[in-house]
Amino acid sequence: MSRELADHLQYFSEIGVDGVSRDAKWRARASSAGAEAPALQTTTESLDDIKIEIGQACMRCKLCTLGRSQVVFGVGNPKARLMFVGEAPGEDEDKKGEPFVGRAGQLLTKIIEAIGLTREQVYIANVIKCRPPGNRNPEPDEVATCEPFLFRQIDVIQPKVIVPLGKFAAQSLLRSMDPITKLRGRQFEYRGAVLIPTFHPAYLLRNPSAKREVWEDMKKVRAILQSEA
Ligand code: URA
Repeated sequence: MSRELADHLQYFSEIGVDGVSRDAKWRARASSAGAEAPALQTTTESLDDIKIEIGQACMRCKLCTLGRSQVVFGVGNPKARLMFVGEAPGEDEDKKGEPFVGRAGQLLTKIIEAIGLTREQVYIANVIKCRPPGNRNPEPDEVATCEPFLFRQIDVIQPKVIVPLGKFAAQSLLRSMDPITKLRGRQFEYRGAVLIPTFHPAYLLRNPSAKREVWEDMKKVRAILQSEA
């Protein structure tokens, strides 16, 4: 067995996949909910424009006084076809200035690689760009202040697929109070993309058996990306 294949199988087993098919139809099959192709959102700004506007010392909400060390803007390919949205930076992300670099982030990287992509090919951002103290949930005023920047990032990137990671990101983007268990497993049309909510990698670290459902979601993501390639 080649080293590359062994590495792939290792990824698959780590994220809970117990079987693969070599049937081309299986790999290329269409998504079940069939979200319609939406009108493109046009914007003339760039990610750098948005980053500069936020600034390195953003003081728009109270998180700037509550111990955050820097704004964590987002990372990845500005033309990504796949975008992940998390909740807010944690301690590691606050130190490094990059989303999803801690343990949950390492698992996210494996999930991305399991569908044949790299972190550099996708885009990763959070609803909130500064770390809430003690990793508490972002509060409504913080979300209201920060989320317009995420929407603008989405409009610049124009991804084909957006994957909100966990309850908080899914509820914020969908303006829903439904639990993630109700939102996951479904597809939504959202700002020109197909939105596929899935469990947060931090939840997977605590509940490894849920990796199976995430793998189901990621297969849908891969099928959509392949069908629109
Ligand atoms: N959890 C998140 O939601 N975002 C990060 O960037 C890291 C952990």
